[in-house]
Amino acid sequence: MSVGSQRSLKFDALVLGAGIAGLEAALNLADQDFSVAIIEKDASIGGKMIRLSKVFPTLDCSSCITTPKMAAAAHHPKITLFTYCELQSLARRDGELVAALRQKPRYVDTEKCIGCRQCEYQCPVLAPDAEQGGFAARKAIYIPFSNAIPQKALIDTENCILCGRCAQVCPTRAVNYFEQPEDFSLTAATTVIATGFELTPVENKPQYGQGTIPNVITALQMERLLAPHGPYNRALRPYDGMEPDNIAFIQCAGSRDQSMGVPYCSRVCCMYAIKQAMLLSGSLPLADITIYYMDIRAFGKGYEQFFQNAQAMGVNFIKGKVAYLDPGEDGAVRVRYESQEAEGGVQTAEHDLVVLSLGMLPGWMPEGRCALSTGSDKFIQTVQPKLAPTLTDLTGVFVAGAAAGPKDIVDSIVEAGAAAMEASRYLAARSERRAVSS
Ligand SMILES: Cc1cc2nc3c(=O)[nH]c(=O)nc-3n(C[C@H](O)[C@H](O)[C@H](O)COP(=O)(O)OP(=O)(O)OC[C@H]3O[C@@H](n4cnc5c(N)ncnc54)[C@H](O)[C@@H]3O)c2cc1C
Ligand code: SF4
Ligand code: SF4
Repeated sequence: MSVGSQRSLKFDALVLGAGIAGLEAALNLADQDFSVAIIEKDASIGGKMIRLSKVFPTLDCSSCITTPKMAAAAHHPKITLFTYCELQSLARRDGELVAALRQKPRYVDTEKCIGCRQCEYQCPVLAPDAEQGGFAARKAIYIPFSNAIPQKALIDTENCILCGRCAQVCPTRAVNYFEQPEDFSLTAATTVIATGFELTPVENKPQYGQGTIPNVITALQMERLLAPHGPYNRALRPYDGMEPDNIAFIQCAGSRDQSMGVPYCSRVCCMYAIKQAMLLSGSLPLADITIYYMDIRAFGKGYEQFFQNAQAMGVNFIKGKVAYLDPGEDGAVRVRYESQEAEGGVQTAEHDLVVLSLGMLPGWMPEGRCALSTGSDKFIQTVQPKLAPTLTDLTGVFVAGAAAGPKDIVDSIVEAGAAAMEASRYLAARSERRAVSS
């Protein structure tokens, strides 16, 4: 939706981030008849959840359960989506929260684009598709993924060679190579911050190869290999397309590690590794699957049973800290670890494919953009973590999901409901105050 087409840029609530937490908070507020603006920095809403394969502990198809939420938010009469949009600043002025925003150029007019993909078919440029973990290619003009919302194209200017083919074939003349960023502001009485997380960068751990060892991949890349619409439609190792016979997961690869500046537990990595191991043993029944762990943290309802099911399926759990990864023969990866099992000591094993269970870092930090405080872990600080876990130190600003700290989907949804409730109470109290004073 183009900014110029907005009649009013005044909303009851602003939700920053359109992952599962932001969508849930926005829908809760909109269903109570509050007008809501959702600001999302990516070209599609859906956050990490729309990019996952299946979800623990139910093994539901992730995109099947996320897409209806995305569609509900996109079609809700009280919700306006601003995608591919960056927050420049958020400050309180005359009782309102004023957000300064920048609409990044897509080089495609979203009012005219009908999502027909003719431009994609004609574009001659292939670039790595980050949405598929970099394992597949996309065009320089593209719609982010098949169930992206909105279904609007955008141009990646780093790879576009300005050949003009997309503009020639576009039936609605939507392509505009000269589009500029557009700055605008909107006001809202209350805000929910739902900016989620990013994975700890592989580059931060020299001992694990910093992304240079073939066949060492991240957990999000493994999600794509396992996804129904993944890059190969089956789990193959990216280096040579071989079906892996022997796969390892390295736990705490980016958490509980002072050397990476991440002393905390990221909470979801044990469970997502167990989930991925179970999915792999379903699709590759003859493969050996090993999880190297320090402790297994199966903290939620049904999670311990899930862990036990993985053991019963034959997933091998080795208690030990992995110290080094090195390239082995024929694309294999050599794992050196300190065993904490009976035999103890430093051991070595080789695997065809290694998955790093990376941890969670904040998806966004407010420094320089708004006066919200962060904790020592850099996630948004909550002022009453026990009794009101969504309250921040800025009046009228609430936080939900992984923006406040590592969290699984269930906890993110619950927290989003709580943040929406706090925001609606805040809105009700504000109108009462205004009625009394007028
Ligand atoms: C490999 C892996 C597998 C997982 N598997 C499971 C599972 O099976 N089951 C489960 O319960 N949990 C799982 N999780 C955890 C799950 O992904 C999170 O619980 C969930 O995504 C948190 O949702 P969120 O909305 O808080 O954050 P996110 O999904 O990170 O969404 C945040 C959104 O905010 C946007 N954003 C960030 N900054 C800004 C900004 N400044 N302005 C505008 N927008 C912004 C982002 O682009 C994103 O769309 C897994 C995690 C990983 C890494
Ligand atoms: S930019 Fe044009 S050709 Fe491309 S999807 Fe949109 S309408 Fe179709
Ligand atoms: S102008 Fe750019 S995006 Fe359009 S077809 Fe040519 S290379 Fe692709």
